[in-house]
Amino acid sequence: MKNRWFFEELHSHIKVGLKIKKTVFRQKTLLQDIEILDTYEFGRALILDKTIQTTEKDEAFYHEMLTHIPLLSHPRAEKVLIIGGGDGGVLREVLRYKTVKKAVLVEIDEKVIKLSQKYLPFISQKAFADSRTQIIIEDGAEFVKNTKEKFDAVLIDSPDPIGPAKVLFSSNFYHHLHKIMKPQSLLARQSGSSILQKEELRSNFRLLKKEFKYANIYLSSVPTYIGGLFSFVMASDKIDPRKINLATIKRKAKFLREKTVYFNPDIWQAAFSLPEYARRIAK
Ligand code: SAM
Repeated sequence: MKNRWFFEELHSHIKVGLKIKKTVFRQKTLLQDIEILDTYEFGRALILDKTIQTTEKDEAFYHEMLTHIPLLSHPRAEKVLIIGGGDGGVLREVLRYKTVKKAVLVEIDEKVIKLSQKYLPFISQKAFADSRTQIIIEDGAEFVKNTKEKFDAVLIDSPDPIGPAKVLFSSNFYHHLHKIMKPQSLLARQSGSSILQKEELRSNFRLLKKEFKYANIYLSSVPTYIGGLFSFVMASDKIDPRKINLATIKRKAKFLREKTVYFNPDIWQAAFSLPEYARRIAK
């Protein structure tokens, strides 16, 4: 049988190929083109509009880093808002916290949730069925504009700024978000490859720096998000993670021991240690 390949076309001058065993499912919804592929190297993968969203082999790297860096920096997050995240990986990690009483996941495309539950059940595991979970099918930008609820932590697990996700990268969006965050709260978002999407990182860092008192970049390896270290931005009016000492994180993270694939307290500290090129972006 002819070798079959999936090529990611996110970056204009780069093609990333994954050799595939089979296409498990493919459907164009009103919002995006959804593919579920079985790949040789990274196992099962969720693809949206030809862009790798998450894979069996490295989903935990990303979901753990988008969740535990902010939630361990917060004194006691009880109400968490996740925007995007239809695969359920961030939701799974958020629900590990006994302090979390409610996790609201606002996902624009219900099909992603349904297909992830069916074809990628190892990602969400029992998260969608947890009594603390509330799923809202809506544009995250609309939700933050209209909700009356207030949150301790907001985690933005959106795709890159293409298609329906574009609105999740604007100053307007961050301004509305700020209004639904409690005084002692924080947010974290993925902000793309620190090498190949420098502009995405720089602009989101600057917008968040303008909107909140503190904004910090942190980095992680996420192998299938090509382009070196992958970036996240964390922002808050009251919480500067650089002022939290490692001993506190070690104490708070004890419950995660043996449960994570990538995250540990030393990684927490290392994530904020930026290479020079990234430091210059954060200036
Ligand atoms: N980890 C991936 C990344 O970093 O690119 C993101 C994965 S997650 C599957 C992205 C989710 O965001 C998708 O399910 C998509 O449907 C959802 N999404 C896109 N735009 C959205 C919007 N405006 N409001 C809420 N969810 C949105």
